[in-house]
Amino acid sequence: MSRKVVKFGGTSLSCAAQIKKAGGIIKEEEGRQYVVVSAPGKRWDGDIKVTDLLYRAYDLAQAGRPYEEMMQQICGRYREIVTGLGLSEAFWKEWIQEFEAVCVHLEKENAQEYIVSRGEYLNGKIVAQYLGFAFVDAAKIICFDKNGEFLHEKTRERLKAVLKDRKFVVVPGFYGADDAGAVHTFSRGGSDITGSLVAEAVQADIYENWTDVSGFLVADPRVVENPKLIRILTYRELRELAYMGAVVMHEEAVLPLHKTGIPIQIKNTNAPGGEGTMIVGNTCQESEFTITGIAGKKGFAAVTIEKDRMNSEIGFGRKVLEVFQNHGISFEHVPSGIDTMTVFVKQEALEEKKEKILFEIYEATGADSVEVETGLSLLAVVGRGMKEHRGTAGKIFTALAHADVNVKMIDQGSSELNIIIGVADEEFERAVRAVYGMFVAV
Ligand code: ASP
Repeated sequence: MSRKVVKFGGTSLSCAAQIKKAGGIIKEEEGRQYVVVSAPGKRWDGDIKVTDLLYRAYDLAQAGRPYEEMMQQICGRYREIVTGLGLSEAFWKEWIQEFEAVCVHLEKENAQEYIVSRGEYLNGKIVAQYLGFAFVDAAKIICFDKNGEFLHEKTRERLKAVLKDRKFVVVPGFYGADDAGAVHTFSRGGSDITGSLVAEAVQADIYENWTDVSGFLVADPRVVENPKLIRILTYRELRELAYMGAVVMHEEAVLPLHKTGIPIQIKNTNAPGGEGTMIVGNTCQESEFTITGIAGKKGFAAVTIEKDRMNSEIGFGRKVLEVFQNHGISFEHVPSGIDTMTVFVKQEALEEKKEKILFEIYEATGADSVEVETGLSLLAVVGRGMKEHRGTAGKIFTALAHADVNVKMIDQGSSELNIIIGVADEEFERAVRAVYGMFVAV
């Protein structure tokens, strides 16, 4: 029997009917012994997550505005769940006392993280009761320092000590606490991180991450119709794709599992029979289509600096990048030629400071010209298989040429795991479809 840690996201626990589905999945396998939960998420498009309602209630309270209605709305969400799951009145009475205790903190200063973490805490209590599992408060096992820095080593030890010899437990995701008991949260979507920490500590055979999609797709379904599923993805490929916008789980959830090699399986609560995506440290299994996935983002700008004999000037690149650094702007890619150097940055970050930055680059480098091109997209073609296959780059650029896409920048990562291509925003979708069509039979 495989020992599994299972994490259910907000949409998988958004109402009583969804929690019943999750319960069915958990009870189906005896190995599903450690359950990590999110707060109730969206039930439909346009619905509001409980976590967001809590943020709003806290903001209202801090602004001295009425927040009671918002709290009523939150309470109503949980009431539907408790009633729909058929939990006892006695449980509801106990639960509501906890809820009322939370309301007392709304007007306190510096209580935001505590308040928003209650979405998970209160849901965890309900799910534990429904499953007949024990509830373990994340404040006791996920450790932060007093500044809100997550303490991995300490958490690992604590988790091991508390969960040793225990099974059939529910742990609320997203938060932990410092030594003084003050609650701190991870960044949004952070229940995934809690899940992987628990998996690491109990040395699970698999960490299952249950969500509302069937796994990672080769391309964005908003761009490519019905894209194929990625069956196996390595941690590094995941990082490349996630950075470029293909987000199914919190990127940092991979970190605790990186060294242990525990695989992560992404599964769909609404279609549990599907294969899902398996994320692993390493695999000798070739990816189905040479490339593993395509992701990309719009809204970049390229700053191109030209100076005669730039190539012989030591420290030129540093001077340019220092200007961006001084303005707190991080760069994405820096392709260069003999007398030119281009810096790709997020357009939004550049916009407000553009004139100043250009002036400072002239000043620092004595450049002949500094030009800015906006409205650019970056496309990442990612795949562990690209290293072994000759002609992959050729195929990509043939596809783009046939689709009449003008390639503005090419950057192949030195690990040969990805090729980044810059195109105009208007040509982005066409470019993604062209590369997809070239490698994946449509
Ligand atoms: N509930 C939190 C959020 O909405 C954390 C999570 O769901 O993972 O961000």
